[in-house]
Amino acid sequence: MHKFFDMSIESGKKLPVMETFLSIQGEGFHTGTPSFFIRIGGCDVGCHWCDVKESWDPEKHPLVDVESIIEQIPDTVETVVLTGGEPTSYNLTYLVDLLHRQGKKIHLETSGTGTLPEKIDWLCLSPKKFELPKPGFYNRADELKIIVYNKSDLQFALEQAGKVPGKTRLFLQPEWSRRREVLDFILEFLIRNPAWKLSVQTHKYIGLP
Ligand code: SF4
Repeated sequence: MHKFFDMSIESGKKLPVMETFLSIQGEGFHTGTPSFFIRIGGCDVGCHWCDVKESWDPEKHPLVDVESIIEQIPDTVETVVLTGGEPTSYNLTYLVDLLHRQGKKIHLETSGTGTLPEKIDWLCLSPKKFELPKPGFYNRADELKIIVYNKSDLQFALEQAGKVPGKTRLFLQPEWSRRREVLDFILEFLIRNPAWKLSVQTHKYIGLP
C-alpha cells in the first residue's frame, strides 16, 4: 500500500519523521533551552532559501510509530520541539497527548499553513510570503519569527506583526546564507522598532543540529 494511504497517518499514530535529535533551541524566545526535536517531513511552501529542503518530500521519510519517538526522549528534558518540514500538515493530536502524559512541554514551529493543533504549549509562527498562514494561527502565536533574506522582508514583518496579539514576542532572524549582508539593515530596524528583537541561529555557530 502507498504509505500515504496508511490510516495510521490520519489517526496521527504514525508520522513521516525525517529526524529526531537532542540539542538546544538555538532560535527565538527559548534560545538556550535543552530540547528534543522531532522533524516531521513534508512541506509545500517552497521557500527558495529553505535550509531543510530534504524535508520537503514526505515520502522520503519513514513512517514512524509515535510511541517509539517518545521512548527516545530523556526524562530530564522537558521541552519537545515539533518542527519540519511543516508539522501542521498532519494530525498531531495523538503525539501531543502522549507527550503531555509524559510531562513534556510542546513547542511548535510552523509556517501556519496546515491545521492548528490544540494544547500546544508554545507556538512559534514563522509566516512565509510564498504561502501565508491560515487566520487561526495568528491569534495563537506566542512568538512571531520573520526570516530576513532581503530588505523587503522588513515591510512583510510589520504587516505580519499587525495580525498577532500585542503580547506576541517579535523576532527578526537573518536567513543563514545572507546573515552578513542583512545584519546592518536589521539592526537599523530594531533601533527604530523596539518591540522587535534579533534571533540568530546560535546552534549553527556552535556546531549543533
Ligand atoms: Fe522550508 Fe519552512 Fe519554508 Fe517549508 S516553510 S520551505 S520547511 S523554510
